[in-house]
Amino acid sequence: MSAEIIDGKQVAEDIRNELKATVAELKEKDIVPGLGVILVGADPASQSYVTAKERACEKIGIYSDDNRLSAETTQDELLQVVERMNNDPKINGILVQLPLPKHIDEATVLLAINPDKDVDGFHPMSVGKMMIGEDTFLPCTPNGIVQLLARSGVETSGAHVVVVGRSNIVGKPVANMLLQKKEGANATVTLCHTRTKDLGHFTRQADIIIAASGWPNTITADMVKEGVVVIDVGVNRVEDSSRERGYRLIGDVDFDAVKEKAALITPVPGGVGPMTITMLLFNTVLSAKRANGID
Ligand code: NAP
Repeated sequence: MSAEIIDGKQVAEDIRNELKATVAELKEKDIVPGLGVILVGADPASQSYVTAKERACEKIGIYSDDNRLSAETTQDELLQVVERMNNDPKINGILVQLPLPKHIDEATVLLAINPDKDVDGFHPMSVGKMMIGEDTFLPCTPNGIVQLLARSGVETSGAHVVVVGRSNIVGKPVANMLLQKKEGANATVTLCHTRTKDLGHFTRQADIIIAASGWPNTITADMVKEGVVVIDVGVNRVEDSSRERGYRLIGDVDFDAVKEKAALITPVPGGVGPMTITMLLFNTVLSAKRANGID
């Protein structure tokens, strides 16, 4: 059996089209969702993420307030920009691109963002609400994974989900979201990490594997059962002299071998990646609706 490929680009485009229609409806009510973007420094990867986010906003009609600050920006100066955005009614969502330079304390900055504008879902208030199942802004990559599963018709209720990786931005939140007592969740979740003894013992029992280790080939074919659903979150660069840029991107899963046993699998690139920015747009539109009392 060869797996069906989950087309993250297509799912992301479907959601963006839905959002574009919602933004057009909001504009008829004179509401324009706005995203404030802050980048400190000139890290090339961060610059390209921020540019991609701004372009995505523009395409669906979200206003973006672009703030590219020098690497020497002090924490106080950054906090002033955040505060200006907290008080700007045109801004519904604030995105501080991480990582920040070492002289700035990330936790202090995230805490300064008004939780009502926390479209990244990283504020402790958002994390706490997510944990207890209250309405909040869900973090973008984990929410993208949950949406991919739902829109691919994967039943999570009663399924055994094995999450590999316990970071605060992927592993822990996606595990938490999938065990909530609500539609699209209700899974039995096992969370694995580097101290897990015999990872394969757990992954072989999984109906759904979410791989977020950050290492190629963390999941190999002997570690999965027939018919498993595999979501590969990993983005790893490997040398490839046949490509002009000298590398290609691969995930955390041995895709070619695992797809022969899986029922459904996400590719890298083109799986989870396109969903992350899409869910940021989703949260920004949601925030604009909430700010205007629209559900
Ligand atoms: P991270 O902070 O480095 O966390 C990796 C986690 O995986 C850690 O909890 C680590 O365990 C665990 N781990 C590493 N190797 C393992 C192994 N062999 N067996 C079991 N657990 C293992 O990474 P992250 O930020 O969560 O990101 C994970 C991957 O997703 C990366 O490749 C990243 O680039 C990618 N990513 C993609 C998107 C997207 O939009 N597509 C977004 C975010 C991240 P310990 O805690 O014990 O160290």
